[in-house]
Amino acid sequence: MINLDLSQFLSSRVKRVQESQTLQITTRANKMKAEGKDVVSLSAGEPDFPTPEFVCNAAIEAIQKGFTKYTSVTGIPELRKVIAEKLKRDNQLEFLPEEICVGVGGKQAIMNAILALIDEGDEVIIPAPYWVSFPEMVKIADGTPVIVSTTIEQNFKITPEQLAQAITPRTKMLILNSPSNPTGVMYSEAEIRALMEVIESKDIFVMSDEMYEQLTYGEVEHFSPARIESMREKVIVSNALSKSHSMTGWRVGYIAAPKWIIDAAAKLQSQMSSHTSSISQKAAAAALMGNQSVVKAMRDEFKKRRDFLYRELSAINGIRLNLPEGAFYLFPSVQGLLGKTFHGVTLNTSIDVAEYLLNKHWVATVPGDAFGAEGYLRLSYASSMVELEKAAERMRVAFHN
Ligand code: PLP
Repeated sequence: MINLDLSQFLSSRVKRVQESQTLQITTRANKMKAEGKDVVSLSAGEPDFPTPEFVCNAAIEAIQKGFTKYTSVTGIPELRKVIAEKLKRDNQLEFLPEEICVGVGGKQAIMNAILALIDEGDEVIIPAPYWVSFPEMVKIADGTPVIVSTTIEQNFKITPEQLAQAITPRTKMLILNSPSNPTGVMYSEAEIRALMEVIESKDIFVMSDEMYEQLTYGEVEHFSPARIESMREKVIVSNALSKSHSMTGWRVGYIAAPKWIIDAAAKLQSQMSSHTSSISQKAAAAALMGNQSVVKAMRDEFKKRRDFLYRELSAINGIRLNLPEGAFYLFPSVQGLLGKTFHGVTLNTSIDVAEYLLNKHWVATVPGDAFGAEGYLRLSYASSMVELEKAAERMRVAFHN
């Protein structure tokens, strides 16, 4: 038999797409931990808090009552209604339950909308640094990601001029993510309005990923572009309970959008996953209906951790960072460390910095490269204070000459 590499038969689609680098590093850090190394992992985008008890209880009750069968594709009516109420209560957004489609995490909800709107050759503007999945999702839909780079000097926010320059006759969508993964940066209402002014007269849709809107620390108020009347028909709001309610594993996310987009998303989802778990849907409804003080408690704790790690990193020579207003990430520039040698290791790229920190000092971070921004590092502060103190101390030693 000829020794043929059968993987050559993989579709060109899958060959185009990159695996998530954040998941790869987390897997490596976990492997080192399993080998007995005391690795501090600042690479995962996952809250370290348990899912609130009343949410778990709702899931147990769902199982006990036999709520374990197929549901409607777009989600159980009770959950869609609660999401509509949540959007009004927290975000001043008016959506009907029929304008909501629940999916398997925020990821599937976003992917549905991209697949529903993007054709081969359609351009999607993605500001960088970006969440790792945005360009790959666009590629899966045969679209063309158009990356607009930003720097720490502009606080990682695209300007209306940059947006205007990136638009071509093929532009179909702009992806915004405020607060941002990986930078934690938020757009103010005035900034969102200025960006929307550039596109409001064009047939350009906005995917507004509002995953971290509950995790904001008081400096900037979250503002959704769907609040702008002239954009209401062209904005898709996506969100999930993954980060706000520490429910990453339950896989509940959703989009809110005009009904024709929701119907299209539901059509695709009906052929791919049908719906997310019936049990998770009951838990999510309980989470959004219940007392939101659990969210506030997590937010207060994240704020303490942000302030601590920001202070510690700011004191390290060669590291430069802005105070992020939301999410649970810091995104320092490590450009001041490049070209230098520490404990015998020369650092030339952000990948070198991340490798050095992991291999020599057992601190897992993600190089900026993964987010389309070389010269930076992403650190998640969704770890306990004890872990963050350890990480800060190790980084001080790592970059001390
Ligand atoms: N959007 C952003 C900006 C994220 O950071 C993430 C997860 O890391 C997601 C979407 C997807 O979240 P989920 O776990 O709900 O699929």
